[in-house]
Amino acid sequence: MPNKKKKDEPVQMQLEHILQGIPWSANIKFNMFEKIKDSEMLEKVRKSPYLLPVETLLGNQVHADLLLDKKLVKKEIGFVFEDKYYHITPDFQIAEGALQSDNVVYIPLVETPFVQKTYSEKEATTSASPKERTFTFLGIGDSGVYHPFMITYEQDKKTFARALTKSDDGSFTVVDFRLTKEGAQDISLVTDTVRSFTQAEIKIKDSYLQVPEGLGIEIITKEKIFDWLVPESIVDYLDEYVIGQHEAKKAVAVGFSNYMLRVMTQDDSLPKDNILLLGPSGVGKTYMLSLLAKKAHLPFIQSKLTGKSTTGIKGENLASIFQYVRQKTMDPAPYAVVFLDELDKLCTDVFMGGGSDMDVGLQTELIGWLEEAEVGVTDITEASMKIQTTLNTKNILFAFAGAFQGLGDYQEPLAEVIKERLEKGKKKPNHAQSSEGKKKQRPDEYQYLVKAEPDDLVKYGLMPELVGRIPVLAPFHNLNVKELIQIIKTAKNNTFEKYMNVLRKRGYGVVVANDVPYAIAKRCPVKTGARALNTLAGKVFSHIIYSPKAFTKRAGDNTININGKLVREILDEYK
Ligand code: ADP
Repeated sequence: MPNKKKKDEPVQMQLEHILQGIPWSANIKFNMFEKIKDSEMLEKVRKSPYLLPVETLLGNQVHADLLLDKKLVKKEIGFVFEDKYYHITPDFQIAEGALQSDNVVYIPLVETPFVQKTYSEKEATTSASPKERTFTFLGIGDSGVYHPFMITYEQDKKTFARALTKSDDGSFTVVDFRLTKEGAQDISLVTDTVRSFTQAEIKIKDSYLQVPEGLGIEIITKEKIFDWLVPESIVDYLDEYVIGQHEAKKAVAVGFSNYMLRVMTQDDSLPKDNILLLGPSGVGKTYMLSLLAKKAHLPFIQSKLTGKSTTGIKGENLASIFQYVRQKTMDPAPYAVVFLDELDKLCTDVFMGGGSDMDVGLQTELIGWLEEAEVGVTDITEASMKIQTTLNTKNILFAFAGAFQGLGDYQEPLAEVIKERLEKGKKKPNHAQSSEGKKKQRPDEYQYLVKAEPDDLVKYGLMPELVGRIPVLAPFHNLNVKELIQIIKTAKNNTFEKYMNVLRKRGYGVVVANDVPYAIAKRCPVKTGARALNTLAGKVFSHIIYSPKAFTKRAGDNTININGKLVREILDEYK
């Protein structure tokens, strides 16, 4: 006798609603084959899956972590295939079943063009001539984009991804991929051996499955839901870490959001908005982009365009940044953020008669990369052999930065170029005047940078073809004492906070007086921005960490009181 009344219709659930709880991961890729339409041919591809973290719960049901109504909830899952209902048993076999309960979320799955052809490990070892089998991956129907659907779970601290496939004999099979965590976040595929499962092989942890980091799913504790496709939510995220720079945050958020749309759909016909960050040193340019790359689990590689090689030639070996990209991902056309600082240093000579072919050459090389280029990289094979291959740059987001402060008598600062355009008709200042202007601090520079236009950059000395490929301009301002104080007081994960944690982990209580942030911020030279803040905090804390006992009130008391006076005394010692 059935426990529950059968229902004719599955639980009504919007597909988008289900997908919201099934994060699609761009960074985890699996080797598989794609069936080429109307032919028997198979093409090797690397594909990212939809991943659904699951666990077994209540003894014999497979439950998944789904984001429903903005909350992470556990729901029993089943799937619908060709109008039939199936469920995944606790040992991850696929069983045909009837709809049992309202509480089951049924996911519509369809056959995808992706297959794995393999011998199952078991058959390979027991049979002299192992039978080749083809597994067709199931994916989510009507999602617009085909990605294999996989469930993930943790076992013995390892993360596994398990695809649901239809075998060539018509049966359903689960195919296992093992994932490992590399560093704190990245999860990458280490083995892609395909095998069939027997019940005995699977031991499922019955404790709660932690949503593995890096799967693009977050446990929502706050009201706000982070969404790459909503630039405002990207700004909200940056606000937690980066103080000020509101205009830059907005511009970067829109550019990055567009890029993420391209990453998520893997549609390279969508535009790729490369970004130029304009502004002084140490004010959050690199930081902002590295935060976003980290959040998106994309490789982040940074370099200076003026870096000198051993032979002393400007820009030589710049293409070696792609070697770093390759070290982080084997993808032939990877999604990654490449951050190149000091773009302004490439244009100093172009229009000023200095005539550096090197700068023009580098700009031309950059134009190629921004468009699409195959650049040479060295791969290390499994047998530790070095082989020369290429990496395609088409999916890389390029972010450039520069202060654009000109070169004295030879080149006007960008702010000056913009000012002149805005005040057209007004007598132009000569070079001598502008060089003088450069010597003093220009608190008003930012007010012009926010009005920067592509033509201003061309006038400054960048090639129009290069400027045309960097549509996002993000202006950064100097940080004043108030903002530096705010960094210490409120910015998440700031250096000050990190050092306090070091002391706490060493077993000390730390009491910080209200005048400490001011005492540190006041000592920062405006020109070095928040970088100086980090250096100064480092000096203060290394002093304390060196002999913490000297800073406690009495023996046996493990509380360190830090006040403005102490900070000033320590910093005076370094003078
Ligand atoms: P740049 O603008 O030269 O690229 P960075 O972004 O590398 O400078 O800044 C150096 C460091 O200073 C960052 O790693 C971060 O710790 C801190 N920092 C800089 N600007 C800010 C800011 N606006 N808010 C919070 N921290 C900041």
